Amino acid sequence: LYTSGDSIRRRFLDFYALRGHKILPSASLVPEDPTVLLTIAGMLQFKPIFLGKVPRQVPRATTSQRCIRTNDIENVGRTSRHHTFFEMLGNFSFGDYFKKEAIKWAWELTISEFGLPAERLWISVYEDDDEAFSIWHDEASRPGLGSVPVERIKRMGEEDNFWTSGVTGPCGPCSEIYYDFHPERGFSETDLGDDSRFIEFYNLVFMQYNRTDDGSLEPLKQMNIDTGLGLERMARILQKVPNNYETDLIFPIIEKASELANVSYARADDSVKTNLKIIGDHMRAIVFLLSDGVVPSNIGRGYVVRRLIRRAVRIGRLAGITGSSRGNIEGAFLPTIAEKVIDMSTHIDSDVKARAPRILEELKREELRFVQTLERGEKLLDQMLVEALSSAKENGTTPCLSGKDAFLLYDTYGFPVEITREVAGERGVSVDMNTFDIEMENQRRQSQAAHSAVKLEVGNDADLTASIPNTEFLGYDTLSTRAVVEG
Ligand code: ATP
Ligand code: MG
Ligand code: MG
Ligand code: MG
Repeated sequence: LYTSGDSIRRRFLDFYALRGHKILPSASLVPEDPTVLLTIAGMLQFKPIFLGKVPRQVPRATTSQRCIRTNDIENVGRTSRHHTFFEMLGNFSFGDYFKKEAIKWAWELTISEFGLPAERLWISVYEDDDEAFSIWHDEASRPGLGSVPVERIKRMGEEDNFWTSGVTGPCGPCSEIYYDFHPERGFSETDLGDDSRFIEFYNLVFMQYNRTDDGSLEPLKQMNIDTGLGLERMARILQKVPNNYETDLIFPIIEKASELANVSYARADDSVKTNLKIIGDHMRAIVFLLSDGVVPSNIGRGYVVRRLIRRAVRIGRLAGITGSSRGNIEGAFLPTIAEKVIDMSTHIDSDVKARAPRILEELKREELRFVQTLERGEKLLDQMLVEALSSAKENGTTPCLSGKDAFLLYDTYGFPVEITREVAGERGVSVDMNTFDIEMENQRRQSQAAHSAVKLEVGNDADLTASIPNTEFLGYDTLSTRAVVEG
């Protein structure tokens, strides 16, 4: 199919190959750069070239880079466009072409190759980047491509339009292309943040500075181009589905999970859909991380994959994958879903298939280990519920599990509070969530204080290092932003 994820990837790479770019393979999710935890963008493998530390092999390159962004974990399944694992298509210039060609080709790719209507495209530029603004607006600088009217070029601030890969390193102003799903609605500023209205899909970074340790910007020796186009986002636009999850890149995984949960995605309510999307997302991240050699552990990258696995297990149970067998789980279910991901992996990374036995084995071991923890928690919860029920009977009150107990289950036994509530609810017992939240907050404050005192072993990327626990992992991680620092 012309708009399949695989063909979009192919068409992007071929488009730039025709324009003098060498097609290079994706780098591993585990970067060579020791200061970065995981590969978050296509530029990472080229960082030493941008910084002038390593000579360029070619002046222009194009890649489809597999990426992990743990900072987007809370968005997964909740926005229509964010994943922890995604593919970033990129074209790169190492001191070769700059703004004019980058903008011209991006527009040509979008309009002529992918066929998006020009009147649905909006542009953002960095606030003071008059040069980029006029390249977009002035047809003379992009002959034959049409002018973008000023109303559809927005100047945006540092947060959106100054791209940096980390606290230090190569960076620069950027310019992005957005797709408008509802041009008939007219423009209102508030729509900018609504991804059922606008979706950012292509970011062109004019890489011309290095941010040094003291935070200042020093000009790079040469002007570079670094771009990123989200494959899943382009697939969503071209396949005309309501979100990235329903594209052919992810939906078959969701269908597999639905089958195991014995639910129909189409008929499921929103919360079940969200859970299925989270599983679809996390399974891809898990498989590719394991494939790239990350082993579940309590620190750094290992902790990232462990969190994802535990979250997938929990969400899978909430989605009903183990059904009524809770407390009596026969075996692991993640490997069954992982097999689907592996089947679909060939065009993303041809090495995954050969590694399948190891990936599935590690996944099974990790899942079963976590399930044991969960089961221990379930026994304890059972005792707590019996006590809560009998004391309520004695005192003539409504049965309630204390927040301290719920917290103990969470913190020491790795028992997610959502499951505590669910199980308690089935027995007619409520959970004192106020006290639970206070306990969580106390723990967060304590570990934050400890966190700031600990020198992190890997990474200097703010988003990613925030996810490294500073203590031995004891509790189950809910992966809320609060829990991230709790470890
Ligand atoms: P957003 O504002 O939507 O979070 P971003 O500005 O953080 O995106 P960039 O850092 O500019 O994204 O990355 C380049 C491109 O990679 C984006 O334009 C988008 O197409 C894609 N992308 C970024 N983050 C994600 C993600 N979490 N999941 C899927 N695609 C992503
Ligand atoms: Mg983002
Ligand atoms: Mg953005
Ligand atoms: Mg962006």
